[in-house]
Amino acid sequence: MTLVESEEHKALRASVAALGKRHGRTHDRDQLWSEAAKLGYLGVNLPEEYGGGGGGIAELSIVLEELGAAGSPLLMMIVSPAICGTVISRFGTDTQKQKWLPGLADGTRTMAFGITEPDAGSNSHRITTTARRDPDTGDWLLTGRKVFVSGVDIADATLIVGRTEDARTGNLKPCLFIVPRDAEGFERRAIDMELSAFEKQFELTLDDVRLPADALVGDEDAGLLQLFAGLNPERVMTAAFAIGMGRYALARAVEYARDRQVWKTPIGAHQAIAHPLAQAHIDLELARLMMQKAAHLYDAGDDIGAGEAANMAKYAAGEACVRAVDQSVHTLGGNGLTREFGLASLITASRVARIAPVSREMILNYVSHQTLGLPKSY
Ligand SMILES: Cc1cc2nc3c(=O)[nH]c(=O)nc-3n(C[C@H](O)[C@H](O)[C@H](O)COP(=O)(O)OP(=O)(O)OC[C@H]3O[C@@H](n4cnc5c(N)ncnc54)[C@H](O)[C@@H]3O)c2cc1C
Repeated sequence: MTLVESEEHKALRASVAALGKRHGRTHDRDQLWSEAAKLGYLGVNLPEEYGGGGGGIAELSIVLEELGAAGSPLLMMIVSPAICGTVISRFGTDTQKQKWLPGLADGTRTMAFGITEPDAGSNSHRITTTARRDPDTGDWLLTGRKVFVSGVDIADATLIVGRTEDARTGNLKPCLFIVPRDAEGFERRAIDMELSAFEKQFELTLDDVRLPADALVGDEDAGLLQLFAGLNPERVMTAAFAIGMGRYALARAVEYARDRQVWKTPIGAHQAIAHPLAQAHIDLELARLMMQKAAHLYDAGDDIGAGEAANMAKYAAGEACVRAVDQSVHTLGGNGLTREFGLASLITASRVARIAPVSREMILNYVSHQTLGLPKSY
């Protein structure tokens, strides 16, 4: 990894930025999704033999960051190619790869990802969605509840994190199942979120959902490893989402601060306005450096190193995004709250990056325990 972006990455960044600019904040999400897919951006991280670009999370995060910086982020990129595409391409059976990867790569198919549960939340060790085998058919029967799962209505299937019983110890171990959208017993209810985004969040009920034996992704005994392989790209991609949004808001604020004049100079000449914007820019740049490090470690196959860096990148980017949006809205005065300028809704949207997929506090816990070796309170 060099600290200077390669010519290839610069070119990718520039062409995605141009696409984002053509669509802008008021984009038609489906049109943008299919155009980005046709240009190969959505599957840039997936293997070439399945129609992907043969790149990694470094490239995919550039795509999401630049679309976000243009005001047109595609949230499902965090889940479909990044988590589900990664897990299937690394651990799926040949049949699963052939069935899913070409569609995930060319954007014609989408997969959502469900881990969060109402009674587990941040404590994913506590999830209770359970899979048992039908001894007669070998099918899986999946039962449980999930909450806040994004895009289930627009996804062809959801990758559900459940548990199976260890035959030897009786302990429950995590396993990943592909659940088709219309599977019998798989119910969804849209949650009324105060977010103005195209993608909705759902509460899911799985009531003895019958799945064929090959709905299980990878190895029943290596579920945890497979899960973490998907969660690191998710964190890097959430960082990209946050940095993109922060850049978008900051750019609007800078434009405004250059022009708006209420005394003898534009408001951007007042340091009370200029310095927090400069600080927001620095924070976003620093977060991007950590994101690039995390993506590089992940793409180089260092899952452990990537784990720490991806957490730190998600933390830094989430915080930088919240501060950048807050300062940008403030810079516009009353206009910061008008629909015309469209920044106020980013106040809620930016909080998503602080909460999901792992909250600010849980990352601080991770760094306290894993990196600093401090004792746990829970
Ligand atoms: C817009 C959006 C989209 C989402 N999309 C998905 C998705 O597609 N799939 C999916 O599975 N999930 C999704 N989520 C869920 C998300 O990952 C969870 O909201 C997140 O993990 C936090 O869980 P929780 O909401 O249950 O909060 P809780 O776990 O109930 O936490 C509440 C608060 O307590 C704090 N807290 C909890 N434990 C500790 C501790 N030990 N120490 C200190 N503080 C603590 C947390 O930091 C948080 O501030 C989404 C959420 C949102 C908002």
